[in-house]
Amino acid sequence: MQAIRVEEFGGPDVLRVREIENPSPGRDEVLVEIRAVGVNPVDTYIRAGARGGSLPFTPGMDGAGLIAAVGEEVTEWKVGDRVFTCRSITGTYAEYALCHKDQVQPLPEKISFEQGAGLFVPYGTAYAALVLRGYARPGETVLVHGGSGGVGTATIQFAAARGCTVIATAGTERGLQLVREQGAHYAFSHNDPNYLKSIMDLTGGVHLVIEMLANVNLQRDIELLRPRGRIVVVGSRGTIEIDPRSLMSKNGTVTGMTLLEISDEERSEIYAAIGAGLKAEILAPIVGRSFPLSEAAAAHSAILEPGSYGKIVLLP
Ligand code: NAP
Repeated sequence: MQAIRVEEFGGPDVLRVREIENPSPGRDEVLVEIRAVGVNPVDTYIRAGARGGSLPFTPGMDGAGLIAAVGEEVTEWKVGDRVFTCRSITGTYAEYALCHKDQVQPLPEKISFEQGAGLFVPYGTAYAALVLRGYARPGETVLVHGGSGGVGTATIQFAAARGCTVIATAGTERGLQLVREQGAHYAFSHNDPNYLKSIMDLTGGVHLVIEMLANVNLQRDIELLRPRGRIVVVGSRGTIEIDPRSLMSKNGTVTGMTLLEISDEERSEIYAAIGAGLKAEILAPIVGRSFPLSEAAAAHSAILEPGSYGKIVLLP
């Protein structure tokens, strides 16, 4: 099969197309024929070597496709089932990926493979940030600080369905239109020098911030909080100096969140929340761009550029 391989850490160019042997499932594993691959920012950090790990490897946690083979102890899945992956054993940037039987979830007919490739990391992160760490309650005002990308659009959909008043930011007109379409009640450009004042004038302070770029925004988020407000740090690409007193004076809370360290119970809750949301049609991933699998390097460059619009996917 064809797969993207990383044989040395580095820039996007280290993503090379290689012909490798098809994996075959062990007793409690399934083989997924990948029809679409979800590209996440974390894939670029891992490719660059920022997370360590051994070489060579096939990148990718998110994908969607059909069960192609099952191990002898697998009774939950059969050949031909539509699924999306929730991480994998061998990596999803390939024509086939080996998964533990618990690393796949059913993909409803009305959700395309491209959309399915944008489910686990974005929606799992959104749910974990909003509910498991952020304790978002109906009626609260939630700022999705960076609403136009994969995690942002997912967070807006979950928060709006939960009965929160949703304020979302984006960097382009197209992104602002997108966040409104996903359920944001108010949209502001994070490139407008006055947008923080506009959010404060509108709300008098927000209950919860879901933050995609904390190294830029954390101090501003603290200033936007109402008393006892919470900030959940989802994304950060550097360091920042903050004034702890501004947090203290509001009885505010800053919490970190990483999907890579969730517990088994949290994983089950995430699976249930995504499954129910897809069934109720309150969740629908937005696919902004697709590239052939062989152009994974271009997709890695694109995902770090401004002007996000939902997900970027690869098509094997
Ligand atoms: P993405 O699709 O590339 O979206 C990035 C988002 O950040 C876009 O909405 C972008 O808006 C926005 N942004 C850019 N400049 C901003 C600013 N100054 N203030 C606020 N937002 C700004 O990425 P993603 O998949 O949604 O992931 C978002 C972040 O979360 C990434 O850093 C990723 O590594 C991280 N993440 C963390 C976890 C975890 O477990 N903690 C899981 C998944 C992702 P425009 O492009 O419209 O300007």
